[in-house]
Amino acid sequence: MKLVDHFQYGLNSPICLTWELTYACNLACVHCLSSSGRRDPRELTTAEAKAVIDELQRMQVFYINIGGGEPTVRPDFWELLDYAIAHDVGVKFSTNGVKLDKARAAQLAATDYVDIQISMDGATPEVNDYVRGPGSFDTAITALENLAEAGFEKPKISVVMTRENVDQLDEFKAIADKYGAQLRITRLRPSGRGADVWDELHPTQAQQKQLYDWLVAHGDQVLTGDSFFHLSAYGDALPGLNLCGAGRVVCLIDPVGDVYACPFAIHENFLAGNVRDEGGFKEVWEHSELFTELRQPQTGGACASCDFFDSCQGGCMAAKFFTGLPLDGPDPECVRGFGEQMLADRDDETVIPKSDVDHSRSAPRNSRAPKQPTMLSLAPPPRRPDRACDESPLAGFSPTAEQVPAPVAGS
Ligand code: SF4
Ligand code: SF4
Repeated sequence: MKLVDHFQYGLNSPICLTWELTYACNLACVHCLSSSGRRDPRELTTAEAKAVIDELQRMQVFYINIGGGEPTVRPDFWELLDYAIAHDVGVKFSTNGVKLDKARAAQLAATDYVDIQISMDGATPEVNDYVRGPGSFDTAITALENLAEAGFEKPKISVVMTRENVDQLDEFKAIADKYGAQLRITRLRPSGRGADVWDELHPTQAQQKQLYDWLVAHGDQVLTGDSFFHLSAYGDALPGLNLCGAGRVVCLIDPVGDVYACPFAIHENFLAGNVRDEGGFKEVWEHSELFTELRQPQTGGACASCDFFDSCQGGCMAAKFFTGLPLDGPDPECVRGFGEQMLADRDDETVIPKSDVDHSRSAPRNSRAPKQPTMLSLAPPPRRPDRACDESPLAGFSPTAEQVPAPVAGS
């Protein structure tokens, strides 16, 4: 059985686990997929978070993606980071850079098993700050400078691709090269506050082709995770995970301990359980009804007859769900234009689900409103990290027999 076939049926433990430690954030990015801003008073305590780490260690989860909100604003963030590493759980955390001063950069450079993703959604302040807020570009650059000066090796620059920044791909790459970083690009999904700006900001059809061509030329140098497998329908398959791993190899633990199938699917339909429930995370991962269902063979639905189904797989479940399209049909950004047609065919009867969770500090921006800068509170710069099936779960994963986790029991 090929490695990817194991993924279809789920693994003993997730290899792409995102853990959002807090909904608190000093920024208010317009596309924040977890609608972060204010802390939730029910957030896991330090002791509860450590108990989850203990459980992940027992499950042999080798690394986790920590995000938020802005995880570093949680007072116990550094304590939890050290605790995870001491318990054999490597950490990659996403940050806007707000806490990465010279001293912290030096500390991180001296720590093994930690990786850092600095979020940046424009290669210039004008483009970046329009989405992430005034001052956020400078904060990200300062963090990169501090990391480079401290000798931190190969941090990531994490970019959500939008209509405004597709033309800047080469510039992003130049910034990454300048600071000894690696570029990671992800797809804008209509999740959280991203739903409010998706119409305005998601790349046009022409830009998707532009992005595909750029990835064909540079894909071996950038990380993409499962963001762009729907673009493989343009021709050659792109590097990265070529399937939706939700509930199979991907999942999210949110700040209050809820476990969702995917970081981009914070909705009750994709809620599998809570780490505070009896049996903890392991029970949810192995036996929840939702994850069991997601690990069943998929039919492909309306996409099954498409010549490109093998590489495209019908695209992203979350993108379909939050645009009101059927989960067994084409992706809203289907390169053959079927998704666009289906979006146009939606009417007043179409239910477009909204995320159940919203910790925004202010009302969402109306995507039809005239273009204007992001509204920020008086809080200091930076932002909210991005999330997600970050880079490819396959990256650095050697498919030797010993390393392939067994399929989940019962699947
Ligand atoms: S729903 Fe989309 S973002 Fe989530 S795992 Fe599937 S393809 Fe990735
Ligand atoms: S029809 Fe479906 S499988 Fe074919 S390209 Fe579009 S989304 Fe992909």
